[in-house]
Parts: sequence; C-alpha cells; structure tokens
Amino acid sequence: MTDQLAILGGKPAFDPAELKPWPPIDDTDRKMVLDVLDSGKFTYGANSKAFQDEFAAWNGNKHAIFTNSGTAALHMGVAACGVGAGDHVLVPAYSWSSSATCIIHHDAIPVFVDIDWKTMLIDVNKIEAAITPRTKAIIVVQLHGLTADMDKIMAIAAKHNLKVIEDACQAHGALYKGRPAGTLGHCAAFSFNQNKCLCSGEGGMFVTNDDDIRARAAQVWSFGETRAPNESRDYHAYALGWMYRSNELTAAFGRAQLKKFPGYYKACRENAAALDKELTGLKGLERPTEPPGCTHNWYNYCPRIDMEAIGWTGDPALMRNAVVKAIQAEGVPVSVWQRFILPAMTVFQAKNAYGGGYPWAIPGANDGVDYTPSRFPAALRHCDRYFAMVMCLRAPNTPATARKIGQAIRKVFDNINKIDPQKVMEMK
Ligand SMILES: *Cc1c(COP(=O)(O)O)cnc(C)c1O
Repeated sequence: MTDQLAILGGKPAFDPAELKPWPPIDDTDRKMVLDVLDSGKFTYGANSKAFQDEFAAWNGNKHAIFTNSGTAALHMGVAACGVGAGDHVLVPAYSWSSSATCIIHHDAIPVFVDIDWKTMLIDVNKIEAAITPRTKAIIVVQLHGLTADMDKIMAIAAKHNLKVIEDACQAHGALYKGRPAGTLGHCAAFSFNQNKCLCSGEGGMFVTNDDDIRARAAQVWSFGETRAPNESRDYHAYALGWMYRSNELTAAFGRAQLKKFPGYYKACRENAAALDKELTGLKGLERPTEPPGCTHNWYNYCPRIDMEAIGWTGDPALMRNAVVKAIQAEGVPVSVWQRFILPAMTVFQAKNAYGGGYPWAIPGANDGVDYTPSRFPAALRHCDRYFAMVMCLRAPNTPATARKIGQAIRKVFDNINKIDPQKVMEMK
C-alpha cells in the first residue's frame, strides 16, 4: 500500500520538515546588520552605496541604484527609457502583475504579447505584430530565471528604435550566451523580495550601462532631485520623482547575502538537475526547458501537466488543481502562482487605473490595444496546466532532498488515473 496516494489516505512520500528555510542566515548577516544598528545611520548611506557598487561589479553593470522594490526599479526603467503619457510598451501576457502595472505607473499603456509555449517567455515571433506607432519600449521578463532570445529581441528593438527593459526580478545570475541577465537590454530591474534568489527582506536594484538612463532613473528614485542623498542636496524637484530609496539595514542584509550568492546559485542548479533527472520520462509531466546558450538559475522549476498524455478531456485547471493538491498531500510544497494571464486581470479589463478611464483615455492611446484573453492562447494554455516549485530547490537543501521530492511527484503521476479531480477538490 506504499503506492496509495496520500490524498486518498496513503502515507505521504516526503517529510516537509526536511526542507530548510530560505534564505540561510549566518554570522555574516548578523554582524553586518547589527553593525548598522550600532552605527546610528539608517537612511541611504555607506552600506547602500557599497551594495550598489558590489552588485554592479558582480553583475557587470556600469551603474546600479538600490531601491525599495523590484517594482520601483521597473518603474524607474520605464521612465528613464523616455516612455511618456499614452505611449505603448510591449510586455508578455504571462508574468507577475507589476511587470505590466509599472507601465501604467508612468501613464503609459501595456500592449501584451503572447508567450512562447516551450520557454514560457515572450514570443519573439509575435513582437513585431504588436508594435504600434506609439510603441517606445519592450519589457522582457526573464521569467522563472530563464533569459529570452535577447539577440533577436535587441535586433527588433534596434530596427524599430525601441528601448529594452529587462524584468530580471527572478533572474539573478541567469545567463544568455554567457552574459548575465541585467546586462542584455538597455536597463534592468532586480528584486530582493524573500522569494527571490537573492533576498534582503524587500528591496530591488536598478541597473544600466547608460549614463543618461541612469541619471533619469535617479530622479524618479529620489523626489526628482539630481543629487544622491549622500551628496550635497539642493532639495529641488527637477522632475516628477517618487521615493524609491531603501535603507542601510536592508542594504547590509543584501550585501551579506550577495557574498554567499555563488554557493546559492550552485545549489539551485545542482538541486534542479537532480529533480529534473528524477522527473524524466514521467507520463503526463512536461519538464521545463533550458534552451541551448541559456543558463537557468531555477528560481522557479515550473513543470506542466500534459492533459492529452493522461487522457483528461475535462477542464485542465480542475485537473491541475487536483494534482497540485495531491502533490501537496505527499508533503511537497508545490503551488500555483498566477491563475490569470495579465490581460485578463481586472485592472486591464476595466482600463481604468486612475479614474476617468486613464491612462487609456488619453487621446489615441487606446488605438490598437486589445486585451481580449483569447488573443493570447499560449499564455492561457500555460496558466491552466503548470505548477510551480519556488523555494524547495534553494540552498541549503541538497540534491538528496531534491531526489526525494522528485520521487514524491513521480508517485502522484504514476497514480494519476486514481485522481478524480472533482472529488479531490471537494475534500478539505
Ligand atoms: C517579484 C517580481 C517583481 C516585483 O518585485 P518586487 O520586489 O516584489 O516589487 C516583478 N517582476 C517579476 C517577474 C517578479 O517576479
């Protein structure tokens, strides 16, 4: 009876107590954060400056600006790339909401592009058809820690005079032809939210190699001023700015974690390889891909259920949700992240962010903008079939644990014909 699924009363295959919390904390973190507490300096200062310099050096960027979130860094990118009211910015139809709402933050209009089924990233072959006379930029989301086909994207951008903003919030250390995410477009945003592969609690980093883009982003970052808070300020708002700075405690934590990133990265890659091997050849499970030339950071190992292979002809989301529940019952913390594609979210369907229908009510801004979900079939199909594995592959967890997780998932797929999704979803 060891094969009896836990959701049907069998013994769980995996003990979740084996999983170590993320991120690991040691004396380096404690010392650096306590030193800030003892220093009496908490707003932007030496640690924030050092974190910027160390991050830029680590990733190979000329400039870095430490922010209070990845979303703030994205908004800075949109503004710094010269996007204005009523302009169009392309963005994939499947991502985190702020990959697209950062465009609205600058009074501009998201225009969605469907995803490529295999990579789950923006479909490079659908970009040109989405370009309108108002298009100024493309936000390329390096989703799950995998980089998009940047050579093709940069060629399209050059041809149409567009700026490319990388949403690298999930892509710390991910490589495209040996070059790191965050150096591949005109500027990029990273997030240090606790889920991400580098954590400072909350926080983010704006990076660019372009002096003008850096200068414009810095104004958005700190009240529209032209001087950093550690320089002699004149407290003058030269442009519309926000307050996107972070603080010394967060910077110290981020710096301590960045020192340990190489080990974290190696662990994630090794654990994902062990899991991937365990899941190979499983009927009904479609493993995520790592295309030639790309190095995944495995922020999220994101498999999909092949409904045809398991002979399920009903609602795919119902079956997916039941399988997720069955895997969770085995003790494995899988989850469903986005249940909606972006254009289907209420803020876009309503086309009314600021009241009065703005920014879509700007004359001409709505021309060629169509958020009908069926225009994004790959994103829709993906959304109903995937499940996410975000934390369980992180350091200090080991390949031995990853293999056990793989075996627990294997148990569910080997017995998938015993799952009655309707019944499973009615269970408590
Ligand atoms: C986390 C994330 C963001 C936002 O980062 P925050 O630091 O939470 O603001 C944006 N885009 C993607 C793809 C993300 O995963």
